[in-house]
Amino acid sequence: MLYTKSFNNYAEFQQIFGIREFDGRKTRKNKILLSLIKDPTIRKEAIKSGDYTLISITNMQDLKQILTKKIRISGVRSSKNPYKVEVLGKTYKSHIYSTDHWKGLCEDGSPGFVRYHNHDNDGTFKMKAGKFYRSLIADSPFGRKLPEQIQTWLSEEFATAWRAYTIGKLPENKLIVNDDFKSIYSHEFCKGGDISSDPFTSCMTDKGYHTFYNSCVKAKAASIIDADGLILARCIIFTEVHESGSDKIWRYAERQYAHRNDDVLKRALVDALIEAGEIDCYKKVGAGCHDCTAIVDIDGNSLSDKEFWIECWADSDSRISYMDTFKGYDMERNKAWNSEAEGDEYALDVTGGWLEHSEDYDDDEPQEYDDYHDEYVYDTRTVYYHGDSMRCDVERLDDFTEFNGRYYYYEDVVNCPHCGKRMLNPEYYEEDEDWFLSEITDEKYCSSECRKEAEQKYKAKHWHWSDYDQDWTEKAEDVVTYQHYDSISGDYQEKTIFLDTLDYEHEYHQKFCQIDGTWYDAIDEETGLPYGHEEEMKVLMSELTSL
Ligand SMILES: [Zn+2]
Repeated sequence: MLYTKSFNNYAEFQQIFGIREFDGRKTRKNKILLSLIKDPTIRKEAIKSGDYTLISITNMQDLKQILTKKIRISGVRSSKNPYKVEVLGKTYKSHIYSTDHWKGLCEDGSPGFVRYHNHDNDGTFKMKAGKFYRSLIADSPFGRKLPEQIQTWLSEEFATAWRAYTIGKLPENKLIVNDDFKSIYSHEFCKGGDISSDPFTSCMTDKGYHTFYNSCVKAKAASIIDADGLILARCIIFTEVHESGSDKIWRYAERQYAHRNDDVLKRALVDALIEAGEIDCYKKVGAGCHDCTAIVDIDGNSLSDKEFWIECWADSDSRISYMDTFKGYDMERNKAWNSEAEGDEYALDVTGGWLEHSEDYDDDEPQEYDDYHDEYVYDTRTVYYHGDSMRCDVERLDDFTEFNGRYYYYEDVVNCPHCGKRMLNPEYYEEDEDWFLSEITDEKYCSSECRKEAEQKYKAKHWHWSDYDQDWTEKAEDVVTYQHYDSISGDYQEKTIFLDTLDYEHEYHQKFCQIDGTWYDAIDEETGLPYGHEEEMKVLMSELTSL
């Protein structure tokens, strides 16, 4: 087997370099990377120097990064290259060419060309970007030893990046980042769009599903518009993407869509977003809609080994716009992951506009969560536990008791101290709704009527009644007795009255009079004595006169 550190066995080899079918054609994955690993010069060099970096690479993104850096450093260190070339923010050295403060941009804005100075004939010219890069590779001792196929590939990659960069630099093109999701999903605003065809080849255009981005996730709408205000390329930016197992939050440019599916325009959008400081990572330009992990940071480093999630608040009423990255949605936790939906997750890579269960969602498995027993069951109902509502297995309601049509935890239902009927436990439920406190008895009752009755009963037992006032008082000394005259029977009966009332009536209404320490509400005006005391009076008088 080939000596390399990129894979350890046939299974790993298959994973990185296996054959895949694409549009009916069979191609080997990462063919260019394989050509590097297979190159005998490269392998010999690695073994000799002990630097295995090149034969440890496992993806194209890293391949480009590492090779580009090595080409630059080797060219810059070479004593044969006196001239400085600055392109795409990086410095190279050349034996013949240099760039000025325009950094390779052509004054006429031609996107595919690099403007340079030729020191052989002291003239300023322009050259196709791929060809120009090829010359930089040739001026690098490391670069020129690379297999032909790799050099061609790097030059093509540079040409694409260069075109994107120059498009972004055209003064008439503008980057827009805002909340207007409707426009970027409307054919009216997309270049070349009409009602019957969508040059952006997006099945979400004009569907009205863009409301998903306004209401379910934290996102922004990004686009590059041309001089006519038409969109050349667009994407969604997720502004809070969490990295699993870390506190790190990324701003992520989701898969880009562009006029005629042009990768250069997509690249221009990404470059403009990076330059404007709007994003920290993006879906690799040209990556397919099934690729949830083809994410790179703004320096081009692959993040495919990381797991990401976003908050998502979609429910069964939400309209869903097809998600290119965050496909697996856990509705319970309001999280969507950059992986396909599985188990009881919902799939967000849907084109129908509504949530769908994952493909392996099994209707026969219990799907409802029983909070009380902390497990999935077939059927649950709402129960109340210490004042909180939760779901419980309908088959296992033993700890709950039915009360007023609801199920309460057995400790949550107690008996009313007055009527003895069941009521909610005041410890966990609402005053003046589920129970009623009496300030008089200091007890809690099932209803306000019950409280009233209990208070009456309590007063009758412990308080003091005034017949005259028809009311109770707490203190015995506040009540006195008086003799009430019944004009029909002609008798006095003992009655009670509040002392305050008696004083008031006596003083202001000349009611009540006191004879020998007893209060009367009526007396015989003639004798000035209580009624029925005439006989007694006569006896008394005759006794007095006989003395
Ligand atoms: Zn009661």
